Amino acid sequence: MEAAFAKPDVEDIADRITNAVMEHRLPPGIKLAEERLASAFGVSRTKIRQALTMLSREGLVKLFPNRGAFVTSPTVQEALDLFATRRLIEPEIVRNAIARSDKADLKRLRAHLAAEEDARKRGDRRTIIKLSGAFHMLLAEVAGNSFIEKLMAELCPLTCLIISLYDAPQTPACPENEHVQIVDAIERKDEAEAVRLMLRHLDHVRNELRLGEAEKQDIDWDQMFG
Ligand SMILES: [Zn+2]
Repeated sequence: MEAAFAKPDVEDIADRITNAVMEHRLPPGIKLAEERLASAFGVSRTKIRQALTMLSREGLVKLFPNRGAFVTSPTVQEALDLFATRRLIEPEIVRNAIARSDKADLKRLRAHLAAEEDARKRGDRRTIIKLSGAFHMLLAEVAGNSFIEKLMAELCPLTCLIISLYDAPQTPACPENEHVQIVDAIERKDEAEAVRLMLRHLDHVRNELRLGEAEKQDIDWDQMFG
């Protein structure tokens, strides 16, 4: 085993590209050339292609026949439409969660809140963004409407991407404590308050975004991934 010189596997490559996008080092719309990435990572083009396919399923990368792969570049309008859709769906999630959740569900939600709190304490921004999205997915799961759950599975990764593209690097993904307040209201079965808190929460997240044009920059691929 030559652990120190082990070549990255497909998942490592996908993770490192995801990090570069989340940390604003790769701007939206930039071309992800297979050849360049293969040489930067020191792996075959096949591995790069597999990583890009994986990322395209998560919505982070768009693949175009004959043109290649690009970092997804949601427009301002798409970002606004996405939040408008979530505003429609998530009150129903909250209502269903109140009607259908049991003690075990509430325990899972509380455990998730603790993990979020922990990531905040460590200042681990990437994990904070991921866990913030995962909270809304978990709530959809607890709510138990499988059609809404599928919709949320599509909307959540895209929301993460929009947040990481458009927010100022210092702002949190979901404002602190708001998830806790929502779960408290669900546990009290206070439907009107839980719905009000969820809508206020989504508005806060949307209002944190700086929905302007991202700037182009020169990328040193070998330095970034080599
Ligand atoms: Zn949230």
